[in-house]
This record gives sequence, structure tokens and C-alpha cells, in this order.
Amino acid sequence: MGGMSLSLNLSGLRTEDGTEVLEREIVVIGGGPAGLTAALYAARGQSRPLLLIGQSLGGQAATTSEMENYPGFPEGIGGMALAEQMARQATRFGAELAYEEVQEVNLRGYPFQIKTYGADYRAKALIIATGARARQLGVPGEKKFIGHGVSFCATCDGYFYKDKTVVVVGGGDSALDEAIYLTRFAKQVIIIHRRSELRAGAILQQRAFANPKIRFVWDTVVDEVLGDDLVTGVRAHNVQTGEEQVVNADGVFVYIGFLPNSSLFKGQLELTSDGFIITDKRQRTSVPGVFAAGDVQDPDFRQTVIAAGAGAAAAIEAERFLAERAYEVGEQPVAEAETEGEEEKQQV
Ligand code: NAP
Repeated sequence: MGGMSLSLNLSGLRTEDGTEVLEREIVVIGGGPAGLTAALYAARGQSRPLLLIGQSLGGQAATTSEMENYPGFPEGIGGMALAEQMARQATRFGAELAYEEVQEVNLRGYPFQIKTYGADYRAKALIIATGARARQLGVPGEKKFIGHGVSFCATCDGYFYKDKTVVVVGGGDSALDEAIYLTRFAKQVIIIHRRSELRAGAILQQRAFANPKIRFVWDTVVDEVLGDDLVTGVRAHNVQTGEEQVVNADGVFVYIGFLPNSSLFKGQLELTSDGFIITDKRQRTSVPGVFAAGDVQDPDFRQTVIAAGAGAAAAIEAERFLAERAYEVGEQPVAEAETEGEEEKQQV
């Protein structure tokens, strides 16, 4: 992609391999709540944004069975249902949604280059909302049994464990939320946590402790996922006593935190040591014209409502960026941080 020179009007141009170059005012990458909300706001601002969803709509929110804390839905709403409504709302105002996966981005030139498997886009402003993915334990057997008893999504796979026993690893909100969900199917849910105190919030703790199907194994870390064709359990040890034990189970659900999907931007945007995209409070990244919203830049909250809010802010800022400057194609905009607002940088 690098080094390609383009003249003023990009429409109709082709790259060396014959792919058509498509120009857009605003491209949004990521079809979770942050990206969908950014697309909605940009569409209402008349920017006719293109939202590159990737393979599936809704991001992590779509894997949440029931959302009880998204405002406006007092009875709760399923994560996928919410994502579908957001998509309908964005397209109603003119957003274009495409199930295309981004292969490569080039933020060193301007307009920014975004290459998917089928197309080559140029965007005058870019909003990154690529979300996060589940952190893995990294123990023997884990990778081998993904899809055969190891899962990172109770909503997707819980149904397969009707009347079975499952292990949930982790002690945060996700682990408890999903453990409680799994009790709908499983006859027993064993939560293995590495400490004797949970990180999860009080309400979830109360619900989990009150649930007769849930049992806790404290101060314990998983060393191996066991099985033959399918998972049969885990080998674990107590961190206080060193005592080893095998916990028999038909499935293992891992909820030990999340990692940002930011590898496309490594070396091009400022990232934290954990890989989260650094933004200021106006969702601006280290490259002017590139904004980030949602879990890819938020290591603290992982909340749909916060991701959606950040998506809205990113779109408003992208529109400001486009309106405030008359850019010529090929011209790299001047870094705003050089002239103002450096103190606003919010290190995460
Ligand atoms: P989290 O809060 O970071 O919790 C991760 C859990 O996994 C912790 O209990 C941690 O143990 C444990 N852990 C981490 N690495 C481990 C390892 N290598 N081996 C064993 N255990 C390990 O992650 P989360 O639960 O996914 O939540 C992330 C954010 O989303 C939080 O802000 C949370 O409040 C939010 N969230 C909210 C809801 C809700 O509101 N209903 C639902 C889901 C998530 P330690 O406790 O010892 O560190």
C-alpha cells in the first residue's frame, strides 16, 4: 500500500493489483456498540460513513445473553438484539455497513488507506472501534480444546452443557455474570479463582453466592486443561498450600480479562504497554484525523453504554476535524497536539 501516489479525485482509480480505490469521508472500523454508534452519529452529520463490520455484527456485546444495564431497556435486552437495532438506526440515516475485514491500514499518508480483502478505501477521517478479545490462560490443553470444551463465550456455547458440569475461570464481573448464565443449562458450575476474594461487583457476588448450582474453588490456578477428544476437566493447584487437584468438568469457560484488538495499528498509533490505543478525552489518537472508541482504547470499563458514548464522541470529533480544515489529498494534516491541547492527553 505504501508509496502509492494518488491524484485529486480518487474515485475510479485502481491500485497496482487492479483493486478499485474507493474514497470515503469517514470510515469506521468495527461493528460493536462503539462503531455502530459512531456510524449513526456520522450518518446524521451527513458524512455517509462506511462501517467495516468484519465478520459479525455486535462485537463482544453480541455475545452477551442479557444486558440489564443498558439505559432505556428496563426489562433488559439481548446483546445481539441491541446491536441489530443500532445497525438499523445507523443505516436509516445513511450509514453504509459492510461485512468486510480490514487487512491493513496505512495512517502515514493522507487520506488514510484501509485495505480489506475486497477493496481499498481512502478515508479523510478514521474511527477505530475494533474492540477487544478474551485473554487466554496459556496453559497446556487450552488451545487444543477450543471448540471441544474450552470456550470464551457462555452465550454462544452454554447450551451444549445441558445437565453437565462446567468450570469457569476468573473472579471478575464477566466470570460471575457468565457463571450465573451457565446455571440455566449446567447442573453445576465450578468457579476457580486465583484469590480468596472476588473482583466482581457486589450484586453479582450476592447472586453467585445465592445460586445453589455454583461452587467456588478459591486460591487456585489452572495448570492444564485435560481431556481426550473432549474436555474431561482441569488440573489445578492451590497457591497457598501448593496442593494439586483435578477438577472434573465437561467444559471450561475462561473469563480472565480482555486484550485490545490493536495489532493493525502497532507502530502507527501510540499504544499503552498493554496495547490499548491512547486517546485524549475527545477520542483523538496520536494521528490527527484518526479517532478511537470502545474497548480498544478503554482498559477500565468494558461497558456497552460507555463504548456507545465514546463512539458518538469520536464521530462528533471526526466531523469537526473534517469541517475545520480544508485538506488537499496527499497533504498530511498538522498535528493538533503541536499547537494546542497537549495537556488534555489522557494517559491510560
Ligand atoms: P477483570 O475485571 O479484569 O477480571 C479478570 C479476572 O480474572 C480477575 O478476577 C483476575 O484475578 C482473573 N485473572 C486474570 N488473569 C488471570 C490468570 N492468568 N489466571 C487466573 N485468573 C486470572 O475482567 P472482566 O471480568 O472481564 O471485566 C472487565 C471489565 O468489564 C470490568 O471493568 C468489569 O466491571 C466490566 N464488566 C462488567 C459487567 C457488568 O457490569 N455486568 C460484566 C462484565 C464485565 P484477580 O482478581 O486476582 O486479578
